[in-house]
Amino acid sequence: MATSSHRFTGPADLHLHSNHSDGTESPAEVVAQAHAYGVRTLALTDHDRSTGWVEAGDAAVERGMTFIPGMELSAKHEWRSVHVLGYLFDPTNEALKAETDRIRGDRIGRAERIVRNIGKDYDLNWEDVLAQTTLDATVGRPHIADALVARGIVRDRTAAFDGILHPREGYYEPHYAPDPLTAVRLVTEAGGVAIIAHPVTGRDRMMPVPYIEQLIAAGLAGFEIDHRENTEDGKRILRQIVSQHDLIVTGSSDYHGSGKPNRPAENTTSEAMVERLLARGSGTAPRHP
Ligand code: AMP
Ligand code: FE
Ligand code: FE
Ligand code: ZN
Repeated sequence: MATSSHRFTGPADLHLHSNHSDGTESPAEVVAQAHAYGVRTLALTDHDRSTGWVEAGDAAVERGMTFIPGMELSAKHEWRSVHVLGYLFDPTNEALKAETDRIRGDRIGRAERIVRNIGKDYDLNWEDVLAQTTLDATVGRPHIADALVARGIVRDRTAAFDGILHPREGYYEPHYAPDPLTAVRLVTEAGGVAIIAHPVTGRDRMMPVPYIEQLIAAGLAGFEIDHRENTEDGKRILRQIVSQHDLIVTGSSDYHGSGKPNRPAENTTSEAMVERLLARGSGTAPRHP
């Protein structure tokens, strides 16, 4: 600890979204909400972009909080959607930027295709979705959900995801995403710390253990074990892998504002794990009060 000039500022929530992706609040509002729920160490992890860092970092430092820059990178293993949390990477890294640009670009065409599919059966068009996005936010199904709500077709985001937006309904379209091995390498090579988000959200949703071991060999730093969507069985398996390989374990809320029931600090990351994360990341500095 001799080289560390900071001290732990308190409860750490390392996975929150703003309206730079599919959260409903601005980065500064996310920080204010997190603070109100008792969070004192926070990472903003918008999908496939890092544009909220300055606003969130300023708001955090102003409140005496530690800010850890992050992102949730979209990836795909076979049919599984895999989310790779990257922390403390260099946002100017060309390879990583090219990949996030490609993902975000493809997400737009994909969302348009989903809306076209839905539009055959419901009164919904692309303008409805644009009306629900701020800036040039990373477009996702949550924005389509908001448009369905605005049109009075469903009650809320959850109802949209359980119904029309669920792949079984036939309107779903996939978007481009790199495989997890590529995603982990990109984050790591940009000086970042790669952590798999909500790795065990359901039966058959966990990547096979041999593939996970490949990710670890490629630089994967750990797993988000404490997350409301992880299953108990899955967490047991992950804890074994973590202790075998001495990995980082995080716990976080995955707060999205009013669009999801997740609340800041409903899961937190220990001080020891925050220190390990900070020690491992070298692409961007965290911000301390
Ligand atoms: P997409 O990446 O466009 O396929 O959309 C998936 C995103 O929708 C994830 O980031 C989730 O946070 C969000 N999401 C998934 N299920 C729900 C839900 N039931 N209510 C609100 N948001 C959800
Ligand atoms: Fe999301
Ligand atoms: Fe996610
Ligand atoms: Zn998330």
